[in-house]
Amino acid sequence: MAEGILLIISGPSGVGKGTVCRRLIEIRKALKLSVSTTTRPPRPGEEEGREYNFTTTSRFKEMIEAGSFLEWAVVHDHYYGTRREAVRGLLASGQDLILEIDIQGAEQVRNKTPEAVSVFLAPPSMEALEERIIGRGTEEPDRISRRLETARREMKAYSHYDYLVVNDTVEKAANLIDSIIDAEKCKVGRGARPPGAGGESK
Ligand code: ADP
Ligand code: 5GP
Repeated sequence: MAEGILLIISGPSGVGKGTVCRRLIEIRKALKLSVSTTTRPPRPGEEEGREYNFTTTSRFKEMIEAGSFLEWAVVHDHYYGTRREAVRGLLASGQDLILEIDIQGAEQVRNKTPEAVSVFLAPPSMEALEERIIGRGTEEPDRISRRLETARREMKAYSHYDYLVVNDTVEKAANLIDSIIDAEKCKVGRGARPPGAGGESK
């Protein structure tokens, strides 16, 4: 069985990664979103094991020491990480998986897993990004300016990614990423074969 596609979706905080990923999973039902581990406290409405596995900083550090993470990063004062175990088995069983992670984590996964497909989600403008962060209503005013400063720096990372998608409307962005997955599945280098061709080509 062909391995599943590991799709990294990254971009500055507030660009709409979570929103676009949720829509993408509705469009493409076979796709799964990897559940990260974080030390950030749950927001209202978030559930343990659904949005994140919530944990303490000391437990997170133990997991780093134990080599449990494929990647991890400190994002706005909290630890976030992807457990190796959450990824390996699923990919091997042919499951396509999305990692919705920050820029630092995306760089680690790209370096360790060259076959991963990376998508940089960009805002239509920095003004639109600011409006989205304010509109989400999850940040204190001083934290909004910090997030914007970080975002300006992070925008420069786009050139290291396989694909750039502008999150103009959620629908357009989700459809573009859906098409990217379709295209990746047609890649001969990734194992696409004509009907009846069997396994590896000579
Ligand atoms: P991220 O996961 O990148 O931090 P979110 O998915 O939480 O971002 O989105 C941040 C805010 O922007 C949310 O309030 C969301 O509803 C809004 N948003 C996301 N995508 C769009 C879009 N294409 N147009 C307008 N608002 C959007
Ligand atoms: P939030 O606290 O808003 O849910 O997420 C903050 C940031 O952390 C977002 O940019 C999100 O993509 C990122 N993030 C979520 N999970 C992970 C993870 O497992 N690893 C890394 N590196 N970043 C993550």
